[in-house]
Formats: sequence, structure tokens, C-alpha cells
Amino acid sequence: MSTSRRDFLATSAAAVAAAALPTDAQASRLEGAPALIGLGESGLRARPCVVASANGLRGVEVAYNQISAGADTLDAIIAGVNIQELDPEDTSVGLGGLPNRDGVVQLDASCMHGPTKRAGAVGCLEDIATPSLVAKAVMDYTDHVMLVGQDARRFAIEMGFQTQNLLTEKTRQEWLRWRARLNPNDSFLDYDGNVDIKFTTGTINMNAVNAAGDLSSVTTTSGMAWKVPGRLGDSPIVGAGQYCDNTVGAAGSTGRGEANIKTCASYQIVEFMRGGLAPRDAALRTLERVVAMTERRLLDDRGRPKFDLQFYVVHKDGRYAGASLYEGAGFAVCDERGPRVEHCAFLYRRTERPR
Ligand code: ASP
Repeated sequence: MSTSRRDFLATSAAAVAAAALPTDAQASRLEGAPALIGLGESGLRARPCVVASANGLRGVEVAYNQISAGADTLDAIIAGVNIQELDPEDTSVGLGGLPNRDGVVQLDASCMHGPTKRAGAVGCLEDIATPSLVAKAVMDYTDHVMLVGQDARRFAIEMGFQTQNLLTEKTRQEWLRWRARLNPNDSFLDYDGNVDIKFTTGTINMNAVNAAGDLSSVTTTSGMAWKVPGRLGDSPIVGAGQYCDNTVGAAGSTGRGEANIKTCASYQIVEFMRGGLAPRDAALRTLERVVAMTERRLLDDRGRPKFDLQFYVVHKDGRYAGASLYEGAGFAVCDERGPRVEHCAFLYRRTERPR
């Protein structure tokens, strides 16, 4: 990395951090604030703290309130992501998630429970709207970590989950439009002339620390739209889509899962924090690793990825961060100052992104 880019990174990241964190003076004014922890020059950070992708704004508040009332961190953040999973308007996850190439919704999810050092995951799950809860059921009721495909579905039904058609009329129409544009020489007629459907990503990740410093993480998704049937993204992969170590912190991701899987990015972020990096720096350093591990076909002529990837991080001490390859992403956070969306730190300005 050149010196000038290092300077740029430091400046942009510091600006975001300054906006994101309370000063000592601000923090001392908060009445009844739970478990404020002094960190010297870095200011005061509060626990509990819940961070998520921006679509988790409603969820972080639900999770924060539940944790403040004494709920387990994993139960609370799963309640938080359930809101999006059950929302048919969120086309990135659960009910109403965009389908695969064949018009079938296949869901991925994973979770980790810090205090008990357990993990659960499901991949390519069909017909069950809340894969996060199925992942937790794998964790709670089996000796395994991951179940996939039709057997994951069968397991969910055995555990009492209800099946339903997850394709909504809206996502069915989007799939039809995508299919009509796929190949000008196939037998499908043009669907309409004005909708530009691209490969789409979208997911919800949520991570939390409670007042005692216990942590959990969860990620749930319908994965990349129009994917090859059977494709697993990063979300169900422990260490990629999310990771949690109760002695250090938790991290998770949204964006191009294939890039994340190759770098075990959520694990890497936690490891960088274990080595002493702040959440923001750990995430930015990991994004640099992602760029370094990107194959040539996915880089523009300036060596920048043609995709985006975001990380959401919370440290055991209550510090938190969101970070993205490109400028403009936000993340949801809730602590004693209430739910809000903050700017992600980033490696590249959006204007520099290739068209
Ligand atoms: N990471 C998800 C995946 O690759 C998609 C996303 O976050 O948008 O399946």
C-alpha cells in the first residue's frame, strides 16, 4: 500500500470513527447508561451494543431492548434478524428473498453463541422463512454444525418449522424479467423494456455484546440472486459470513460471498482484534486482504474490485465499526444512544468505482 493511500485511509477512517463514537464528555452526560467502559484516549464505549447491516435498523433496536431486559445475546439478535426474514419486502433474505437461476428461493444462515462456544448453520434451505432459527436448532439439538439442502429442510420440519412458498409475486416477476434478459437468442420473449435487473446481493448480519461482555453473531440471506442452484455463499460458513469469539469480539459480512469465503474474513477480523487492532482497523485491514486475494477478472484496470463487500464488527469492550470496500455504505447500530445508521469506513471512494 502506498504512503498516500495509507494517509487517505487513516483520514477517512478517523473521520468516520470520530462521528461514530461518543466523547468522554458526551458519554458522561448519559444518565442511567448501562456498563460504560473507559478506554483512555479512545473515549468511552457502552455495552450492550448491537451492530448490523443497514437493513437491520429495526432489528438492532429489538435486539438491544431484549438484551437490556436480560435476554441471551443470540436469542436477541435472532429476534432482530427475524424481522427481515419475515418481511416480504426485503428481497435479500427469508420470505420474499430473490430466487436462484431456476426461480427457487434457497436460504443460507449461520450463528455463533460466544459464552458456550457453539455454532450452527444451514445452507440451501428451501421453504422455511427463518433459516437463522434453523441454524440455531442445528446448534441446539444436534452434535453437528451445518446441515444443507433437502436434509436441512427435513430437519427443520422435524423440529416443528412450518413450510411455505417463499417466492412472492414481486420476486417471481423479477425472476421472470431476469430470465427474459438472460440470453437474447433463447425462447423467452422480452418481458418489458425498462427494468434493469442485475445480479443482486443482500443479507442481514447482526452481532451483539451485552453488559457482561458476552457476544453472539448471526447472518442470514437468500444469497446472490439468480445463483446456480446449490450455490452456498459466505453466510452459512462459520468464519466467513460471521464469527464470534467470546474473549475478543464478533464480526459478520454482507456483499460478494465468494470474496469473503476465500479470506475467511469474519474470522480474520476477530483475529486482527485479538492482535490489538481496533474494530475499524481490523475490518479495513481485512478488506485489503480481500483485494489482494481477488482474481484478475474481478479487478478493474486500477486493481480495484468490481464488487462490494461490507463488514460489521463489535469488540468485547463495546467498540464497534462498519467497513466497506466502497464509500457510501451504512450500518445499523444500537447502544444507549438508540438505533441509528452510521457511515461505514471504506477503502475506495465511490466515484473511483468502475462503471
Ligand atoms: N454475502 C451474501 C452471499 O454471497 C450475499 C449478500 O450479502 O449480499 O450469499
